[in-house]
Amino acid sequence: MLPIQDAFPLLQTPRKIFITTHHKPDGDAIGSMLALSHYLLKKGHTVSAVSPSEVPEFLRWMPGNETLINYEEHAAIATAAIKNADIIFCLDFNDYNRTKHLEQLLADAAQPKILLDHHLFPKPVWDYGMSIPEKSSTCEMVYDFINLCGDNALIDKNIAACLYVGAMTDTGSFKFPATTASVHLMIADLLRTGINHTAIHEDVYDAWSESRMRFLGYVLIERMQIFHKYNAALITLSRKDMNLFNVKNGDTEGLVNYPLSIAGIKFATLITERGDEVKMSFRSKGLFDVSNFARLYFDGGGHFNASGGRSKSTFDETILYFKKILSDIHPK
Ligand code: 5GP
Ligand code: MN
Repeated sequence: MLPIQDAFPLLQTPRKIFITTHHKPDGDAIGSMLALSHYLLKKGHTVSAVSPSEVPEFLRWMPGNETLINYEEHAAIATAAIKNADIIFCLDFNDYNRTKHLEQLLADAAQPKILLDHHLFPKPVWDYGMSIPEKSSTCEMVYDFINLCGDNALIDKNIAACLYVGAMTDTGSFKFPATTASVHLMIADLLRTGINHTAIHEDVYDAWSESRMRFLGYVLIERMQIFHKYNAALITLSRKDMNLFNVKNGDTEGLVNYPLSIAGIKFATLITERGDEVKMSFRSKGLFDVSNFARLYFDGGGHFNASGGRSKSTFDETILYFKKILSDIHPK
């Protein structure tokens, strides 16, 4: 992969640009797509931004959300957009399979592809880009990209709000170790545009439905197991659990983090039965590498302290398998 600067000549004249991100997008995925999209439009390009699946409700207030194309609703439009594009930007993922439906389209696309991402172990399939696992968020990298282009002055309130969301959500509200001085300097710069950071926190974190809050109570009482011996916790959510509370996309967001607030718990796992697959989320505090864990046992990956994966076994078998691994490896 060539440095991102080598792609700058491609952007000197107006282009048709396709932007995409990972399946089940989070705050950083949507924030980085929208921020980059606002910026490229200001530079005179035409932009199609495609989300592989729907935008969760807590992010729909974001400026530019109405321009996003949901592949699961508009597959034909999304497919035409990628085929007609001159350049493809991939944000917040580093393996085509993370886009699910777009995997084959991306693999087949002959146009120059640019990566901006902070996950470990990128696949060697991008022409240009930045892949920096130390970065707090892809939003921080979009900010760096705009600055490298010499366009800091183009960062307006809309771009700033989108970048703020990704940095905020991916750093656990500026708490995780990746929250470096450069993140705080970026935030200071974004605040100059007049964004209301309190309103952004409230829009993202304080917009729960009553049933989501009650679902959280149910999960913590009924579905959380603590293994003090292994400094670990496990939350399991069956399809039945989700139906009981009419759980929506995004309602399980953040659940996996709760057990890490228990003294001594360093490793938390969420196993969810979803559609025809069993999805796993892993979080850790300190020195337990959940990216490696996800890659080794659950066909996944991600970051050192936050990763995900999946299992092809049944929900119940996956739980048993997970517990067996836990007793074998004794996470510290
Ligand atoms: P989540 O638990 O929120 O789904 O994912 C946590 C982190 O791990 C996110 O940064 C996400 O992008 C990454 N991740 C989740 N699932 C996978 C996966 O199957 N493969 C890889 N490489 N990363 C994943
Ligand atoms: Mn991210």
